Amino acid sequence: MIRTWTQYAERIERHYANEHSREGNNEDSSCDVCYPPDISIADPTYLNFLNWFKGTYKIRYHTSRTITYYSLARKYPLELQKWVMYIITSFRYKEEQNFQEMLDEVVNQWEETKGFQTERFQTQSRQEPSESSTGSKNKGKHVEQSSSRIRPETFGEGSNRRRDNSEDYEYDP
Ligand SMILES: [Zn+2]
Repeated sequence: MIRTWTQYAERIERHYANEHSREGNNEDSSCDVCYPPDISIADPTYLNFLNWFKGTYKIRYHTSRTITYYSLARKYPLELQKWVMYIITSFRYKEEQNFQEMLDEVVNQWEETKGFQTERFQTQSRQEPSESSTGSKNKGKHVEQSSSRIRPETFGEGSNRRRDNSEDYEYDP
């Protein structure tokens, strides 16, 4: 199994020296001439993964082997580490990578997103400009019945309630 950048680079050289041979050690899963990617056979979550990967590492391209290894990683979660190593060494990159670091990062991301099933939504909190109830707009109208304003009786209620340990769910990413 390819584990280091040196092994990876040697594999590419060997593969070209042997004219794209797919036999034994000459095979190269990161060659898109031998393995043109076909996204139509990919797992539904693959695009989530690919988008994240592209945004995180400087890649040139993926191959059909990447897609296959990704499916196997989903199928055999107990062998996740192994398949992720196969996945990352089946990409081509623009510059040298540290595969061990990458392995840890991808596995972490995998677990956090439960296999890239969840996209992280950015909830847009819409803050409507709150109308001030003091009625500064009605200044010219002369408010006659200021005493009839209903006092919100529930005001303040619950403000001292304990937050149900919500802090327990926070963590440092
Ligand atoms: Zn090839």
